[in-house]
Amino acid sequence: MSEHRTGAPGQVKEVTSLANPLVKDIKALALKKFRDQQNAFMAEGLKLVIDALDLGWSIKTLVFAKAGLGNPTIEKVAARTVAAGGTVLEVSEKVLSAITRRDNPQMVVGVFSQRYLPLKDVRPRDGDVWVALDRVRDPGNLGTVIRTVDAVGAKGIILVGETTDPFSVETVRATMGSVFAVPVARATTEAFLAWRKGFPGLVAGTHLKGAVDYRSVDFSGRPVLLLMGNEQQGLPDSLAESCDRLLRIPQAGRADSLNLAVATGVMLFEIRRGALTLGAEGNA
Ligand code: SAM
Repeated sequence: MSEHRTGAPGQVKEVTSLANPLVKDIKALALKKFRDQQNAFMAEGLKLVIDALDLGWSIKTLVFAKAGLGNPTIEKVAARTVAAGGTVLEVSEKVLSAITRRDNPQMVVGVFSQRYLPLKDVRPRDGDVWVALDRVRDPGNLGTVIRTVDAVGAKGIILVGETTDPFSVETVRATMGSVFAVPVARATTEAFLAWRKGFPGLVAGTHLKGAVDYRSVDFSGRPVLLLMGNEQQGLPDSLAESCDRLLRIPQAGRADSLNLAVATGVMLFEIRRGALTLGAEGNA
């Protein structure tokens, strides 16, 4: 490993060996055990890293490909990383491919500290929409829901019970950057049920046996908590019974149910219908 200066004010470490301990630590972030040990996760792409920094996320390490040397945007991000106390690694394509497990990796990878919102700090106000996901298993579903929550201007997500990791590489990829914009809280089922008792608005569960058409409900003017069930089992009785309403999305055809992320999208666009207008994107 050698050290030199780029246009960024600060030290940049040049790494070409897969045996480098810093590289090994980043590669280990593919596994939840090491993400939790390091309280870290990885996000790929220059735009994502810039968005994350702009939103105040704390960067531990910036990794960029040699080919990025001299790129003023990358050098600016490198300078921001150093200013924030992070490490900057300039690496060979081989190292970048190994870190991202991709043949054609992005030029930039950021390693950030994980961040959860404590459940007690979720205090919804009128018009706020939160989504609670019961034991979500699939990283693609979770990432898609996080992206959709962001897109409709809902406030955040509560992960209930044992769930897939919002900071896994697959989930982060599926969020397309929204992981940095959407607060995520987590709770056991018991803690969620206790918190739910103080929820000041409508708790709307979705259920294949729901008696109410989701289009018949007025969601306006009060906080809404949308509760979605597990991909295989749906909502357990304890959660279903905690809902003010159990809603159903009518279906035609032979499919038993909708995919979890699709159902969440359908519900969120209905709940937020009055708040969404063309031309007002980014103002929610
Ligand atoms: N076999 C599961 C069941 O019996 O509930 C299917 C679960 S479905 C794949 C995942 C979640 O998406 C459900 O728990 C529910 O929250 C929501 N969902 C899917 N289709 C729905 C529909 N037509 N109406 C209401 N909710 C639906």
